[in-house]
Amino acid sequence: MRLKNKTALITGGNSGIGLATAKLFVAEGAKVAITGRNRATLDAALAELGRIDGEGRAIALQVDATDVAATEQAVAEAARLFGKLDIVFANAGIPGSTPVGASKLEIFEQVLRTNITGAFFTVQAAAPHLNDGGAIILTGSVMSEMGSPGSSAYAASKAGLRGMSRVLAAEFAPRGIRINVVSPGATRTPIWDSSAPTPDAKAQLDRRLSSIIPLGRLGEAEEIAKTVLFLASDEAAYINGAELFVDGGTNGAPFGGPVFRG
Ligand code: NDP
Repeated sequence: MRLKNKTALITGGNSGIGLATAKLFVAEGAKVAITGRNRATLDAALAELGRIDGEGRAIALQVDATDVAATEQAVAEAARLFGKLDIVFANAGIPGSTPVGASKLEIFEQVLRTNITGAFFTVQAAAPHLNDGGAIILTGSVMSEMGSPGSSAYAASKAGLRGMSRVLAAEFAPRGIRINVVSPGATRTPIWDSSAPTPDAKAQLDRRLSSIIPLGRLGEAEEIAKTVLFLASDEAAYINGAELFVDGGTNGAPFGGPVFRG
């Protein structure tokens, strides 16, 4: 068990990558507090987490990551129940289409507020409750690198997270708390539901995305979770201020995808 006696806060822990990470953390011996806005998926996630160990080592807190006061309260509640926190996975995030010429200020700001401001204030709220020697992981994205049309706000938010993570790594270094970014490539989670709402649209999107991924397929949430576990664990004790791409080669070998093969 790699996280025995550890406690973790996972924002966006009721779906996709956050939920897969929560499950893995619980299986590895951690106590986990998950957050999200949706009560129904929080309850469903809690039921799943409870089934992993049967001891109820998880709690679910309904909180909007863009609400700083509510975030502070939720983190304090997690710390009160768990004693202290060892790991923060600031993962909550939303997509949002922001093409030049057809973008609304509200959506642009919502993406930044959720993906970057929300992550910063989660970390700030957790800071007084974190054990020295702990670990913070932020969820970035290959989209910070890809120049994908229509993704200005999203790409900026994820590139901003990367810059921010380096500042945080410096600020938390005196306490021995490590900050790293895990940057997934296209990963099969509900985040794609809005852009591909039907099974046909999903299959088409899957084909299109897979064609530019050197490994020829989307990632699975569990594959990202394993990397988060690694970064959170003592196995990554000397990794700090890094960004780890978990993307089948999308960022590192952009011309390696099936579409470029003769
Ligand atoms: P999901 O849509 O499955 O999960 C997103 C999570 O974020 C949900 O739990 C959602 O919960 C939570 N969330 C969103 N907004 C807020 C908010 N304001 N306050 C609290 N929680 C919020 O998608 P993923 O698991 O894929 O996304 C997780 C992270 O991974 C995101 O940061 C995303 O940008 C990033 N990512 C995903 C990729 C992919 O292809 N899947 C690729 C690269 C990065 P709720 O709705 O209940 O609030």
